[in-house]
Amino acid sequence: MRRSDIIIVGAGHAGAQVAVGLRQRNFAGSILMVGEEADPPYERPPLSKDYLAGEKVFDRLLLRPPAFWVERRVELSLGARILAVDPVRHQVTADNGEVLEYGTLIWAAGGHARRLSCPGHDLSGIHTIRTRTDVDRLRAGLPGVENVVVIGGGYIGLEAAAAMVKAGKQVTLLEAQDRVLSRVAGEPLSRFYESEHRARGVKLRLGVAVAALRDRDGRVSAVELADGTVAQADMVIAGIGITPAVGPLTAAGALGSDGVSVDALCRTSLPDIHAIGDCAAQATPFAGGACVRIESVQNAMEQAAIVARHLMGEPPAHVGVPTFWSNQYDLRLQTVGLCLGHDHMVVRGEPATRSFSVIYLREGRVIALDCVNAMRDFVQGKVLVNARVMASPGRLADAGIPLKGLEM
Ligand code: FAD
Repeated sequence: MRRSDIIIVGAGHAGAQVAVGLRQRNFAGSILMVGEEADPPYERPPLSKDYLAGEKVFDRLLLRPPAFWVERRVELSLGARILAVDPVRHQVTADNGEVLEYGTLIWAAGGHARRLSCPGHDLSGIHTIRTRTDVDRLRAGLPGVENVVVIGGGYIGLEAAAAMVKAGKQVTLLEAQDRVLSRVAGEPLSRFYESEHRARGVKLRLGVAVAALRDRDGRVSAVELADGTVAQADMVIAGIGITPAVGPLTAAGALGSDGVSVDALCRTSLPDIHAIGDCAAQATPFAGGACVRIESVQNAMEQAAIVARHLMGEPPAHVGVPTFWSNQYDLRLQTVGLCLGHDHMVVRGEPATRSFSVIYLREGRVIALDCVNAMRDFVQGKVLVNARVMASPGRLADAGIPLKGLEM
């Protein structure tokens, strides 16, 4: 039986970064990274942005050149899926039947794109955007497509809509809630993005439910809504979130409801098993101590560093403030903090100028900012969020006053 001191399940952002972090700290033991995708670790954010738009080649998405993993003695087992974990024997079983023994297991398996479940969900011409393979398949299907329906008005849905507009398609975006981005941002930001997409010809339908997908010769041809209306569709892109990939871990007894629960050192409830990245739910001071799963590159990197430090006996580092970004058209959104539980919002600057910020407060303290084409607010706002600074809404709203030094 093969044995590795460390087995990492998932060759994505978090998995790659924990391997890098361990080698940077001179970890001398063996590291095996098992990933179900065929590619070595790559960046996911461009999948709904410049890679989808055909503006970046795949090689530029790789987190490290393939030789890096060989030089750093990180063994990659790609195209292999871990199906079971035995926490007592310290073993995992792969889909080819191989049983692997670990000293420490790091579960960095991210999530899988949630799929539609309505009648017609399995027709051809229906896509999700989670992996390189998804996007290659989507792009290959684009010639001949005129009408694209995007289901879901979260970041991935909106970015996909922008890329499809760029590709010259007629785009309809369907959102079940009464505004886009309702899960992650305040209404001023939602309304701004809705108007930007409408201005570029996207037909936005808010507060609608998908009833069924219609077909022509086995291919999707239209989306039928619960209100009886129909949107023509030669292609459907579903951006409706992910399901955390934690099945084998929870089957082995790891605690967690949405993903797997981890403590401040990213330890699961099972011995010698850590979990990091999109699949891990952790209490964070930036959500008032609530246990949340954060789907971002920054979080994946941060949790990877926590584990690498812990395994090498280093003291925990200061927890960094969550950040996120989204590119749509010529708009660069940068988010700092989590707006969860905000009780007040301030719009700083004028959305009509296409450079402004939405600032979120809880009990008078700044907890998050969404900055649209407003790099300085993002940089200076990070300091405010990090220190959960008390600031006067009136002064925050005045774009003439720099955020730097605004604490009362
Ligand atoms: P992943 O990168 O998903 O890696 C997990 C890997 O594990 C996958 O390859 C998966 O196939 C594999 N795996 C799953 N189960 C198993 C198993 N049982 N055995 C073996 N392997 C398994 N974040 C930002 O901060 N900014 C952005 O602009 C942004 N845009 C995004 C756009 C898109 C289209 C997507 C999909 C994500 C975006 N994100 C963005 C989120 C960010 O990419 C993720 O938060 C990050 O990739 C999480 O890293 P991870 O390692 O936890 O998971």
